[in-house]
Amino acid sequence: MTDRLYYTDSYLTEFEATVQSVGEIDGRRAVVLDRTAFYPTSGGQPFDVGSLNGVRVTDVIDQESDGIAHIIEDREDSEDREGELHVGDRVRGMIDWPRRFEHMQQHTGQHVLSAAFERVASARTVSFHLGADVSTIDLHRDVALPEIHDAEEAANQVVWEDRPVIIRFTEAEEAKTLPLRKEPLRTGTLRIIEIPDVDVSACGGTHVARTGAIGLVSVLGHERFRGGMRVSFVCGVRALRSLRTFSDAVTASLRFLSVDPAELPSAIERAQAENKGLKREIKHLQERLAPYEAAELAASGQRIGEWTIVARVLEGCDAPALKALARAVASRAGYGVALFSATPPYLVVVARSADVKVDAAAVLKSLMTRFGGRGGGRPDLAQGGGLQGPLPEILHAATDALTVGS
Ligand SMILES: [Zn+2]
Repeated sequence: MTDRLYYTDSYLTEFEATVQSVGEIDGRRAVVLDRTAFYPTSGGQPFDVGSLNGVRVTDVIDQESDGIAHIIEDREDSEDREGELHVGDRVRGMIDWPRRFEHMQQHTGQHVLSAAFERVASARTVSFHLGADVSTIDLHRDVALPEIHDAEEAANQVVWEDRPVIIRFTEAEEAKTLPLRKEPLRTGTLRIIEIPDVDVSACGGTHVARTGAIGLVSVLGHERFRGGMRVSFVCGVRALRSLRTFSDAVTASLRFLSVDPAELPSAIERAQAENKGLKREIKHLQERLAPYEAAELAASGQRIGEWTIVARVLEGCDAPALKALARAVASRAGYGVALFSATPPYLVVVARSADVKVDAAAVLKSLMTRFGGRGGGRPDLAQGGGLQGPLPEILHAATDALTVGS
């Protein structure tokens, strides 16, 4: 059994202990101590990292009655054997405090937010997860946005009142008389976390000493989940970080658009509408330009045998534009056409005039066999995409394929 020092003091960052066993868990070196301040992954809160005698602790596993296993970095490939730990050794443990404190803020914030949802919206917390960036609570029922705002405000009120967070131990039988927010799963001695007049929970996690240290509880989003609602939130240092991210993004956007913050949504809407209009205008102009471009393309063709081959790469053309041009050229008598986009993977449209005895689909197929991609079509018009290879080679192959039969 390991004495869990964090049960009574969440602020303990350094401690001394004796090595009880050294073993392996899934091929990783695992050390069990007689006492530890390291929090193992459990109850929705992730493990601590840190060091034992300077050797990095990368994971902490709760083995219940077999103690807490500290997974330490393997030094086998290193010349330095000083970090080796043996049974009976005295070790000095240090935990990564910024990471732990961040977890304490999120975890205590969760108690306060869950209690607020229960009080303000009669919405019970079914489960809780502390993520690497954002944490979530799953509520038993759907809640409306105003209820979320009310709960968020009520939670922050508790933060600003700077209430104490009290730790005590009681027997499960005795705990039945307490107004616990959630029925405890454990029996025997329970660890009770109480925020007076706010929340009483049986919990083994690490918490801040007073609610003021949570800093801020900020709800970032909500979505329907398993018949209830999943609410994502951040507290303390993470709330500051997310505010900074939003603030940087908004500031940069305002600079681009030269508007005030309140005008940002309408400015984006306007820019999108403008963009849509421009796309329409480009399409219209392309259609007007197509006959002239087609005439130029037709004139640039190479007469081979009975008909003229046009195999060209066209800058700035998407699939519809390539198709329109290939069609326009092939509307003349005596043409075999293969047009390609300018950047890989290449788009291609193959077309032929009604009097030309070449199968456009077969030409495309022969190109795809050599240069990859997908596509298909009819004898007079075929189109594909995803071709890869040196363009001169592709153009050469297209000319050869179109020439067959001439
Ligand atoms: Zn807790």
